[in-house]
Amino acid sequence: MKKIAILGSTGSIGTQTLEIVREQGDLIVTSMSCGRNIDLFEKQIREFKPKFVSVGDADSASELKKRIADLKIEVLYGMDGLIAVATDAESEILVTAIVGMLGVRPTIAAIEAGKDIALANKETLVTAGHIIMPLAKQKGVSILPVDSEHSAIFQSLQGNEGNDIHRILLTCSGGPFRGRSYESLEGVTVEDALNHPNWSMGRKITIDSATLINKGLEVMEAKWLFHVDPGRIQVLVHPQSILHSAVEFEDGGVMGQMGLPNMKLPIQYALYYPKRREMEKNYLDLFEVANMTFEKPDMETFYGLQLAYDALEAGGNVPTVFNAANERAVQMFLDRKISFLEIPETIQKAMLEVSFITNPSVEDILATEKETNQVIDSFFA
Ligand code: NDP
Repeated sequence: MKKIAILGSTGSIGTQTLEIVREQGDLIVTSMSCGRNIDLFEKQIREFKPKFVSVGDADSASELKKRIADLKIEVLYGMDGLIAVATDAESEILVTAIVGMLGVRPTIAAIEAGKDIALANKETLVTAGHIIMPLAKQKGVSILPVDSEHSAIFQSLQGNEGNDIHRILLTCSGGPFRGRSYESLEGVTVEDALNHPNWSMGRKITIDSATLINKGLEVMEAKWLFHVDPGRIQVLVHPQSILHSAVEFEDGGVMGQMGLPNMKLPIQYALYYPKRREMEKNYLDLFEVANMTFEKPDMETFYGLQLAYDALEAGGNVPTVFNAANERAVQMFLDRKISFLEIPETIQKAMLEVSFITNPSVEDILATEKETNQVIDSFFA
């Protein structure tokens, strides 16, 4: 039996992780956390019986305590609760399925405690990759990618230790607005942007996919996971989402991973690495797929992707500004306070205004997030 802890069990990745636990039968959930979805969390607690849990805030904690008074399960909340789940003495691996840079401190705490990480929460690597990757190496901890593209790259690298990567071919569905002009995106609604053609995911990443900023975050994530210069990471728009990404080696050989667009495969691969397990109804019919096409991304209409490359080139805390501004702008768009096109605009302005820090510590990263939010407040005051 393998013991796992989950940050964000009520989300898209979290619920699919629990489906795998249910199906496989040899995984034990020792602790887990959610934000505010107490209804679903209560059901999960009753089914998976963790030793302790954590929720987003004190109100949710007191409500949950009342509801599960018949069970002997400790209920924690806030950042302390997230860190307690992350460092759970019983777990062997932590699934970071929480959204946003809220995951930075718990992820670092988990690595300090020697836990392997099944990493979905890409925002942590985007903002703190320079701290997380060396720390994981020092602690002998594995960072196992859950993001489908990075899992595909990781799978493609198996058996290729010692072979240099010439390029990473990072695929991208193009999102719901592929082929659209900048002007035509003027009035798109939250519902239009949430209507992803191939993947069913949480709201934040779905908006990130519509702006192509998700791909920008993934370029940064790939740089840290695979130690590749951003100039060697090529984004390819592949609307069928069958090739999940590939690695081109120095001899021109390209190794990729294909499969149906189903997040359960990368989650399961991370949980059981290096073993593969059966996954029913997940077999690809290439006759049915018939065509696989590849296009260059439109970096002018979707200039948020270009901003990600710019942030990486600027270095220091600029990727954190990029990420924090995006988190804030996406929330404002979801709350219908700004338009779709104001998302990259807000990020670009924040990248110019927030003070530069060369080699940010965790405290600097959190201070940069705060300053970014203040700067954004001033734009809309
Ligand atoms: P969701 O929005 O579906 O889930 C987020 C989870 O985080 C929920 O459990 C939510 O709890 C919890 N959460 C949110 N705010 C807080 C808070 N303040 N305190 C504690 N917990 C909180 O996100 P996804 O599952 O889509 O994404 C999770 C991560 O995985 C992201 O970084 C995303 O980029 C990445 N990812 C996701 C993919 C996908 O297919 N969904 C694919 C690849 C990567 P609650 O619901 O209870 O509020």
